[in-house]
Amino acid sequence: MTDRGTFSNAAASVTAGGAAQAALHEAAAAATRSHFGHEVFVRAVVEVSNFCRENCTYCGMRRDQRGLARFRARHDSLAEMLIHHRPASVTDVNIQSGEDPVVVREVVLPLIRTLQRETPLGISVCLGTLDSALYDELRDSGASIYIMKFECAVPARYTAVRAPGTLAERLAHIRLLADSGWKVSSGFIAGLPGQEPSEMAAALELAGTLPLHGCSVSPFIPGEETPLRGTPPANPDWVFNCMAALRLGRPDWVIPAVSALNLTEKDGYRRGLRAGANLVTINLTPEELQADYVIYKRDRFIMTEARVLDAISAEGLTPSRQGLADFYARTVPAAAPVELAALTT
Ligand code: SF4
Repeated sequence: MTDRGTFSNAAASVTAGGAAQAALHEAAAAATRSHFGHEVFVRAVVEVSNFCRENCTYCGMRRDQRGLARFRARHDSLAEMLIHHRPASVTDVNIQSGEDPVVVREVVLPLIRTLQRETPLGISVCLGTLDSALYDELRDSGASIYIMKFECAVPARYTAVRAPGTLAERLAHIRLLADSGWKVSSGFIAGLPGQEPSEMAAALELAGTLPLHGCSVSPFIPGEETPLRGTPPANPDWVFNCMAALRLGRPDWVIPAVSALNLTEKDGYRRGLRAGANLVTINLTPEELQADYVIYKRDRFIMTEARVLDAISAEGLTPSRQGLADFYARTVPAAAPVELAALTT
């Protein structure tokens, strides 16, 4: 799964327009249907803590954001909701938080054990950079997918936006997780201030070298209460082009439609489903906590069950009965990548 060169023509794809862009997106959609049919994985996310020891300049939950009411969700209410009140279409749950080892011990580990015992849900976690013993404990408790985004491909940019640690450390953690039995999904931000298309192409190429089973493309949105407020948001076309190029480079990967796609463009979520995405996420964070899980702005566009199911139905897709963790657990041979050069030259 580490065939460097798969994305060798990515730069032309990032800026594709007109007929070349249409061909790129059509090919990405066709590759998705060819590999996954019309089924889309449906997971839930619960955001369990907005405490964070990190200070990423693109995030509203950074530790220097003093005006934010910090919270940790309670195990019992999350467990009750996920066991007894989750939407029928949900096969998996992603437990997500700021980088907060306290919530990992006090809430996440007990919740994984409860869900493992009481439900058939596949379990993903997105908890930041932790120590290897804690990774092992999470995996041994029943989680199987770790989401760790590398954010960008250029070390100086990574440092400038104050992403956690260094890029080299982040990549080392991705490899450590994969080596220790996790299925790893990663991701990057497209359109950070000053980022040229060549950098987004480099992110695609970097993704292709990593031991991943999935990857996301998140549009840069200038957060209201971050040091990057006032900077321009990502060019939506380039974001969707990155998604399409990612799909063509890795037809076998699971690519999520991230909720921020709706902030970059009206109906962006649906456009993501036409550009290669095959995973949707219903936000089940308790309502009273949602407003304080602020990555971009307090007035969030929450992907409710109705919005998610409407989007996939409108695109002629259906919820997958097979869960994501179950899919990942089976051996998935890498499919031959589509040659980007044929689409963009
Ligand atoms: S992006 Fe993640 S690690 Fe960075 S400040 Fe936000 S919650 Fe913390």
